[in-house]
Amino acid sequence: MEEERIVTSGQTAEDSAVEQSLRPHTLKEYVGQPAVKKSLGIYIEAALSRHDALDHILLYGPPGLGKTTLACIVASEMGQNIRVTSGPAIERPGDLASILSNLNAGDVLFIDEIHRLSRSVEEVLYPAMEDFAIDIMLGKGPTARSIRLDVPKFTLVGATTRAGSLSAPLRDRFGMLFRLEMYSPEDLSHIVRRSAGILGVNADPEGLLEIARRSRGTPRIANRMLKRVRDFAQVRGSGKITLEIARDALAMLDVDELGLDRVDRNVLTAMMDKFAGGPVGLDTLAATTGEDAVTIEDVYEPYLMQLGFLQRTPRGRICTPAAWAHMKKQMPAQAEAQIKMEL
Ligand code: ADP
Repeated sequence: MEEERIVTSGQTAEDSAVEQSLRPHTLKEYVGQPAVKKSLGIYIEAALSRHDALDHILLYGPPGLGKTTLACIVASEMGQNIRVTSGPAIERPGDLASILSNLNAGDVLFIDEIHRLSRSVEEVLYPAMEDFAIDIMLGKGPTARSIRLDVPKFTLVGATTRAGSLSAPLRDRFGMLFRLEMYSPEDLSHIVRRSAGILGVNADPEGLLEIARRSRGTPRIANRMLKRVRDFAQVRGSGKITLEIARDALAMLDVDELGLDRVDRNVLTAMMDKFAGGPVGLDTLAATTGEDAVTIEDVYEPYLMQLGFLQRTPRGRICTPAAWAHMKKQMPAQAEAQIKMEL
C-alpha cells in the first residue's frame, strides 16, 4: 500500500469529515484569492438583482486550493442548492441527462474533475449549458429520431486541475474562468487560525505561521498539518502549538522548512544526480522516481515551480540554481551552461 504523505494535496478519507466543518460558507469568510472573490461578488450581486441564474463558472488550479469550497459558497450566496458530482462518476450520457432533469431552477451543479468527462457525456452538456435543453434519441437505426427536452436553468460550476485538458467546445461554454492561485503564508496562517478556533486548538501565532509556511500554498495541507501538529503538541508538549512544537512535529513528518517532503526531494535529487539538473522529460522523470506522471505534473511541479525550483522548457524540466542551493548540492558547470541556454 502506498504510504500516505502529509503533503498530499488530494483529499484523503480522514480529511473529508473534518473538511466539512472547516469549510467557509460565505465569500467574506473565504480567505485570499482577491481577484476571484471580487469578480464573483459582482456577478453574484448582478444575477441576484436580475433574479437570474449565474453564468457557468470554470475553476482551475491544483488540488486543495478551494474549488469545491468556492462552488458551495456560490450556491449559498445565490440562496440555491448544490448538487455535487465528478467527471469520472458520470459514466454514460444517460447519467448526466438524469442529473440535469432532476435539478431545480437556479440550482448549482458542481462537476469536479470535469476534464475527465467522456466525449459522449460532454455532448449532452453542450446544449444543456447553452440552451438549457437535452437531446434524447428515441429508437435505433433509420427510424431513430431525437427529441429535445427542456431542463431547468442551472449554473454549472466545473473544477479541473488542468484547464489545458478541457476540450475547446466545453471551455468556450463557460462564461467565467477563474484560476485559483497558491496562497501566501499570511493567508494560510489566517486559514489555520480560523481552523484552530473551530477545532478548539490552542496555538500561538508563530506556531501557526510555521505550519502555514510549510503547507505548500495549499489550505487542505495547512488544515491537515494543523491536526497532526496538535496531536504532537498533546503528546510531547503542553497541548499548545508553539513555534518549537510546530518545527519538531513537521521535522518528524519529514516536511522541510519550505514544505518539501521526501518525494519532492526525490524528484529534485533524481534530476540532479541522474540528469545533471535537466532538461528531463516528464515520462523519464516519472519512470526514474517511480511516481505517476500525472501526479508529478498536477501536484509536485506546481509547487516546485512556484518556489522557482523548476522550470518547464520545450525540452523538458530543468532545475534552477535555487533548487541546487536548497538541496545543498554543487551545481555542475555543465548545468549552469545548460540553464543559460534553456532559459
Ligand atoms: P479543491 O476542491 O480545490 O480540491 P477544497 O475546496 O476541497 O479544495 O478545499 C480543501 C479544504 O481547504 C476545505 O475544506 C477548506 O476548509 C479549506 N479551504 C480551501 N480554500 C479556503 C479558503 N480560501 N479559505 C478558507 N479555507 C479554505
